[in-house]
Order: sequence, then structure tokens, then C-alpha cells
Amino acid sequence: MVKRNGNGGTGERGNAETRTRTPHAGMPTTRTLEDQIWEALASVVDPELPLTVMDLGLIDEVRVTGGHVRVRMTPTYSACPAIEVMREEIRAKLRNLPGVEEVQVELSFSEPWTMARMTERGRARLREYGLSVPSSRSTAAVTCPFCGSTNTVLENPFGPTLCRAIYYCRDCHNPIERFKPPAE
Ligand SMILES: [Zn+2]
Repeated sequence: MVKRNGNGGTGERGNAETRTRTPHAGMPTTRTLEDQIWEALASVVDPELPLTVMDLGLIDEVRVTGGHVRVRMTPTYSACPAIEVMREEIRAKLRNLPGVEEVQVELSFSEPWTMARMTERGRARLREYGLSVPSSRSTAAVTCPFCGSTNTVLENPFGPTLCRAIYYCRDCHNPIERFKPPAE
């Protein structure tokens, strides 16, 4: 059914031709491409925390239009340098997917990121990692992940990264790193 026009073609079909994709065994539908995109997003890890962008609940929306992918994400901290690293990784990973021609990763600041966006898996991972996970309010006592004591004191609000603060447990004398969400 493929007809070759040789030089006989006028410019008329030009617009339609640019949409042609490399045919794979079974053209990927938009649905499966979206699945692949979410899968790829689930492998993008925060360079400062043992969490993926999905664990953190950073992704607001994925929109696929032909080969054009637009991802909208809400960063935990607007100033967090990790966001640029993750952004670049998202672009690189999605660009590698078959059928994707262009990837745009937009940052959304309309609604601040809160702990409520983090998944249960994300919270569990933070605890496994030894980071104290804040409860609903930042004024709540910090619980020591080692002994469970709340007899803790803030030692340094500026931890190794912007998103962590250092506490000290008066009972078991361990330093505690606490995940420090920007808004609670
Ligand atoms: Zn302790």
C-alpha cells in the first residue's frame, strides 16, 4: 500500500509526512507509551534522598501529544539543587523511550509541596534510611528512629542538604537526621 511518488510529489503531503514514525513491531499506542513514561519516572531518584520522584509525589501531570511529552512537577524546595538533577534525568530517560521526540519538564509552584504528597512507600523508605519522618505538624516532637524516644533536641537546622536538619537523641545519644519539609 506504500506508494512511492519519486519526484512526482508536490509539497501537498508535506505536513502529513512529518508525523510518520519509525514503524516498530506493533506501533506503540499512546496508552502503552504513557505506561512506559510512568515506569521511567518511577526510576528517577532524588540525589539527596533514597526516594524516587514518585515516592515523593512530585509529578503532577504527564501529557502525551504525539511524540511530545510534557511533565509537570512540583518541587519540594524551589531552591533545592536536586530538582535540576532530577529534571535532567527525567528528560534523558523519557527521550530514550521509543516514539518520544521531545520532552518538556515544567516546574509548578501553584501549590506548595507538602508531606501529604509523599507515598506510604516513600515514608517507609525514609524510616529505613534512618531519617526521622515528620508527623502531621512540624511542631510535633521529633522521634528518634533508633530508640523511639521523643527526648530529642535540634542541633543544627542545616543538615548535609537543604532538606534535612540534625537532631540529637538525649536517650541513646545518636544524631538524628530529620527530613525537613518546606511546608506542613
Ligand atoms: Zn534515641
